[in-house]
Amino acid sequence: MNFSKVNSERFSQAQRIVLKIGSALVINEDTGAIKRQWLEALCADISSLHKQGKKVVLVSSGAIALGIRQLGINPVRARLEESQAAAAIGQIQLAHAYQEILGAYGIAAAQILLTLDDSESRKRYLNAASTLSTLLNNNSVPVVNENDTVATQEIRYGDNDRLAARVAQMVSADCLVLLSDVDGLYTTDPALSSDSDHIAEVNELTDEHLEMAGGPRSRHACGGMHTKLDAARIAMSAGCQMLITSGHLEHPIKACQEGARGTWFLPNTNPQASRKQWIAGTLKPKGSVTVDDGAKAALIEGKSLLPAGVTEVSGDFERGDAVSIKDKIGNELGRGLIAYPSNEALSIVGLHSDEIINNLGYRGRDELIHRDDLALINDGSE
Ligand code: GLU
Repeated sequence: MNFSKVNSERFSQAQRIVLKIGSALVINEDTGAIKRQWLEALCADISSLHKQGKKVVLVSSGAIALGIRQLGINPVRARLEESQAAAAIGQIQLAHAYQEILGAYGIAAAQILLTLDDSESRKRYLNAASTLSTLLNNNSVPVVNENDTVATQEIRYGDNDRLAARVAQMVSADCLVLLSDVDGLYTTDPALSSDSDHIAEVNELTDEHLEMAGGPRSRHACGGMHTKLDAARIAMSAGCQMLITSGHLEHPIKACQEGARGTWFLPNTNPQASRKQWIAGTLKPKGSVTVDDGAKAALIEGKSLLPAGVTEVSGDFERGDAVSIKDKIGNELGRGLIAYPSNEALSIVGLHSDEIINNLGYRGRDELIHRDDLALINDGSE
């Protein structure tokens, strides 16, 4: 098989791309400074993706590596609080570099710092997801990192591979690229043995793949192949394809478009189907909303559920919980993640979106359940 052609086509079809950039790519290991030229070339590639109408999220490491020397600390022996302090210094400089370089292409860089809790708690997940999607709709480039200054050992990802996969899931990305210091998965660590084979495609992750993964190699890298495979598992279950490829080239994304060598992890579903499946199947509804005929028809057409179309709310739920959506005779139409807690949902039943502010005292969201957070039974076709 001509992998270069296949790889090039695969990458070119992606519309919503999350790019994870490892510390060793963006920070010079010897001087601890930002690799400005490399970053400029990367941002040129991002601008060209934008011109093709694609949406891009960056998950960039490098804050700790950048800040640590300025604190005068040996990176190998840094204590947790020293790494956190280093991240505080490094993150602001890193964000500034992205802002400046992307800004030259007329692209607004938007800093998002996440903790593990932001992706694991449903309510915070929904908050982060809607901010990210608003930024993408406005053609900004979110620049995401872990909020290292507040994340302690027990509550941190510790690596941006898995964080990037969760972000890909949040934005329903169809492609996650881990730009790394290696060009993919090998049967054994290529640095240690000469007869190791490169794996071009993985359709299903097995224990054998886990055995192939070695430990982290670069001084700055937190991930290594194990966390990349964890990321692949998250991405694949979210219907997002993932590519591990080398970021060492001057224009790494252009190289992907030209079919760069790498390992592709290919899910057997797509992000939309997998999200609907997740909402419809795996969540126990915490309550229900009853909708009128107009709202029912709108839902079937693929629209969001607005408070105006709701006649009744029952149950005790938090923002982000799954609720069941029923028609006026009690048939379940589907399920969705609700944007308001039960007490607030009750107080805005039947209201037009511009009246929400009068009842809640704040603007709130227009939709009670956004269409991206909805899964109809039979997909709405009755
Ligand atoms: N969040 C860390 C940083 O910005 C990096 C974690 C990683 O390299 O995976 O320094």
